[in-house]
Amino acid sequence: MNLIIFGPPGAGKGTQADFIVNKFNLFKLSTGEVLRNEIKNKTQLGKEIFSIINSGSLVSDNIVERLVETFIADKKYKNRLIFDGYPRNLIQTKTLQELLLKHGQEISLVLKLSVSLETITKRILERRTIEKRTDDNKEIAIKRYQTYEKSTEPVIEYYKKLNLLKVIDGERPIDQINKEISDIISLI
Ligand code: AMP
Repeated sequence: MNLIIFGPPGAGKGTQADFIVNKFNLFKLSTGEVLRNEIKNKTQLGKEIFSIINSGSLVSDNIVERLVETFIADKKYKNRLIFDGYPRNLIQTKTLQELLLKHGQEISLVLKLSVSLETITKRILERRTIEKRTDDNKEIAIKRYQTYEKSTEPVIEYYKKLNLLKVIDGERPIDQINKEISDIISLI
């Protein structure tokens, strides 16, 4: 079973993905985390993407595709991936379908955590004091939300048409959201 989790930055995607990983023995592929590691390790790629990430824009589709394929092609993760932060636009969605097909896999479920801009701005500012992410400030948070609405909402529509989408109210307490997600996954 491969899953995708969507939600604007600050919606709690990471927290919920970690919960699902533990409970259902999956592996989380967070493209944002992989990219931040490249920056932290000061790799050539890290240097190229540093300013893009800190402006709240998206990194090029080719870069992300290369990263993602290494995970999809790896037998360790076969049918055990939860995609967090990917695909972010329609081009990446098409690429993902092709990569999954090439490696004999598919998406079983798509979750969307629904949260208002007001709530995420508040959460991102709170998170900033604990995680020190350089892209967590109010202006960049709004820009990342706008990027999400413009580029990622059409992707969610795409999965809705395929009947794979479940929308979760992300404004509720974490344990309630955990429970709803567990119930949904257990039915697959
Ligand atoms: P995230 O941790 O998912 O919020 O991602 C942080 C930043 O990494 C984003 O604002 C983008 O600059 C970049 N990023 C993460 N995932 C992708 C992706 N699938 N495509 C392009 N850029 C991405």
